[in-house]
Amino acid sequence: MALTLSNSLGRSEQVFNPLDPPAVNLYTCGPTVYNHAHIGNLRAYIFADLLYRTLKFAGFNPDWVMNITDVDDKTIKGAIAEFGPQASDEDLKKYTDRFYQTFLTDLDAVNISKTNIKFIKVTEAMAEIQSFIVALIDKGFAYQADDGSTYFSIEKYQQTFGDYGSLIGEKFIEGQKIGARVKVDEYDKNNLSDFVLWKAQTAEDANIGWDHELLGRGRPGWHIECSAINRLAFGDKTVDIHTGGVDLAFPHHTNEMAQSKALTGQDFVKYWLHSEHVLVDSKKMSKSLGNTYVLKDLEAKESNPFAYRYFVLQSSYDQTINFTWEALAGADSAWQKLINLARGWKKEEGDTVGAVNPNYQQKFIASLENNLNFPQALAITWELSKNDGVPPANKLATLLDFDQVLGLKIAEHLVIEKIPEDIELLAEKREKARQEKDWQLSDQIREQISDLGYDILDTDNGATLRKKGKI
Ligand SMILES: [Zn+2]
Repeated sequence: MALTLSNSLGRSEQVFNPLDPPAVNLYTCGPTVYNHAHIGNLRAYIFADLLYRTLKFAGFNPDWVMNITDVDDKTIKGAIAEFGPQASDEDLKKYTDRFYQTFLTDLDAVNISKTNIKFIKVTEAMAEIQSFIVALIDKGFAYQADDGSTYFSIEKYQQTFGDYGSLIGEKFIEGQKIGARVKVDEYDKNNLSDFVLWKAQTAEDANIGWDHELLGRGRPGWHIECSAINRLAFGDKTVDIHTGGVDLAFPHHTNEMAQSKALTGQDFVKYWLHSEHVLVDSKKMSKSLGNTYVLKDLEAKESNPFAYRYFVLQSSYDQTINFTWEALAGADSAWQKLINLARGWKKEEGDTVGAVNPNYQQKFIASLENNLNFPQALAITWELSKNDGVPPANKLATLLDFDQVLGLKIAEHLVIEKIPEDIELLAEKREKARQEKDWQLSDQIREQISDLGYDILDTDNGATLRKKGKI
């Protein structure tokens, strides 16, 4: 499979040639576990999942690693808000573990197979992070400042390699004024400054910190963690693919590149793939607009959160997408239609296993090869569904073949699941309460049914039950 990918480094579509095929080292910047991942973050993870599945489908053997940021300014602030000004490392762990579990649940909800991912938490990579920073000091790329924190010297890097900023197509010319130092992790490219690698402990950190004889008590900056975790996972070799949302290209990925290249002297990553922004009603998501949606907002609106995966598939990863409730509902009904067609193909052919149609398979592969063109791959799937010349059993076999990549859970929806008797009984009890206008009891039973993993939907023909996330 001759896969082309849109590489941010070099800003062009390039044929994918991993360093040591069929092995592929794949790294994705993971979440900061201080709240729920919003739908923009989830797009980046769905994209990485689609890439992983495509690589598998193409016969590669990807090794997929994702960091979990479980210590930074935001997580510490959250832990202090919950556990008080004396919060400790253990309190921080209690705080972040809860959001880590939520993150895993969110991955399940959009069918990102977490068993394919090796998660590495920052707090579990502390020794690697510290030794990485010490090595940068030894090589002259890092220094300890008066405030006790350790910073990366952009000037030294530029003198040595001269390519700082190449990932975002910027040339930071030698002699350009570089700000003294910046201790926060996020800033824009007009405020270029030496960035922090190790933050010396301050009163704002409560009792949270890690000791080191040279660096002192403190904690890592955000950027160094990904360089160190890559090294922990893949050694000093150039990594094949690094993914993340486009908002991470600067400063996060730019700084990851600089740190790793400063250490090894060689290129950090061969292919940088950035998934684009998600807009909501054509506007940027922001706290002030109240449009920063997370999956539970989708559930609260009685939308199907799984439909978000289909919604993401409808656009190329390097294009901005516009989320609206109507678009999500449209994605949901398209997905349900596909499932219902597949059920029909199964019924007509009984249990006969069909054969994958080679023409459609070829077209499907060609769309993936074309910079992971999933909108095209979906169009081919629909074209297949409408082609009366393909026997139903073969349609089904072909769709199931495609679904290894699309991840639309076709196989598990082919058989309509029977609703357990106790749930049916609860639904009857609720119906009776409704007839007696006992709304409180009716709502109570609805909650009970929901806790048992089922939704009850009131339609014109009475209430129907459905397993959560199923149709
Ligand atoms: Zn990262």
